[in-house]
Amino acid sequence: MLTSKMIKDYAISAGADEIAIGPVSRWENAPRRTDPRLIFPEAKSILVMACRIPRGVYRGIEEGTHWPNYAFYGYNRLNTVFIPQAMYDICCFIENHGYDAVPHYPGLPEIQPYDGAVQLREGSPSPNVTAQIRIAGAAAGLGWIGYSKNFLSKKFGPRVRLSMILTDAELEYDPVKKSNICDKCGACAVKCPGKAIPLPRANQLIKIKLDGNEIIWGDVHMGKCTLTHFGIDKTSNPFLHNALPGVKLNSEDQDGVSQEEAMRIAYTLTSGTFRTTREFPHAPIYPMGHNLLQNVGYMAFCGAKGCIRACMDHLEEKKSIENLFKNKRRTRKEWQKLPDPRSVPIRPEDQFYE
Ligand code: SF4
Ligand code: SF4
Repeated sequence: MLTSKMIKDYAISAGADEIAIGPVSRWENAPRRTDPRLIFPEAKSILVMACRIPRGVYRGIEEGTHWPNYAFYGYNRLNTVFIPQAMYDICCFIENHGYDAVPHYPGLPEIQPYDGAVQLREGSPSPNVTAQIRIAGAAAGLGWIGYSKNFLSKKFGPRVRLSMILTDAELEYDPVKKSNICDKCGACAVKCPGKAIPLPRANQLIKIKLDGNEIIWGDVHMGKCTLTHFGIDKTSNPFLHNALPGVKLNSEDQDGVSQEEAMRIAYTLTSGTFRTTREFPHAPIYPMGHNLLQNVGYMAFCGAKGCIRACMDHLEEKKSIENLFKNKRRTRKEWQKLPDPRSVPIRPEDQFYE
């Protein structure tokens, strides 16, 4: 008989760092387009796995030396290569015991192609039904949703990416975790370069009910976050100074921007090329972004300065998480924004340090 322990042991051996299992009934109040039960109505259990983001991948962005590591090992390839390999193996393990296992594509519910209302079955929402993975993690009992809206695990705090599998195997379930390790310190909001996370005193909250428990997080401005994350913000992306020195680009002021608008601007600007001139001898409008998109396949510029880096520093300091280190993460000052490069000649090797 297939048990939770067998799956958990196998998942850890396959590459997951943490795993929890909850019953599908915990999705009772989910908005229909994010309800994973619609993808597999016979499912009984939902497994959610966490894989850590190595702490070292933030160092380059923090100190202004290296940007691709976080986008590659902490984001895109972690979500689309390393984790799916483990997911695939776990699905095969479950199938070998005679049960179906439906892995969940590592996409976001907010990012869906717009094809209008496509009704394919009576009573079903339009494709794609895509679960909110952080809510899945909380519903499975893997951890909590922090004030920053990031998922927090007991071992790694915000330094994890999640994945999920639905199965028709009935298993033993983990309880939904209470006593959130997020203490509403507000460090994530203070340090967020896009000012996308409201300060706790603003009292802008999202509340949902999960298995009888109220879960609350700050109402993060996803348009501003997306602009900043994808680099359309000079306070967190130093390369825009060289690419577009005369243009003011700060996401903090963009109160009206939607997430979709932010993506359109970011991807168009980053992948765009234009004629070369003496002023701009390179065709890509924005060479560092272009390089990241081409060679890493993804771009991440603010490096989760507030929602992950500030939060993990705080939780490490308080020893609220288990994965602690012998040395402090921050050993040098963060890079600092520089004046307009047209007016101050700066050697490349000096550029981003104080
Ligand atoms: S920094 Fe972390 S612990 Fe502090 S409020 Fe934000 S999510 Fe909570
Ligand atoms: S990814 Fe960057 S902009 Fe978005 S919430 Fe985190 S720190 Fe703020």
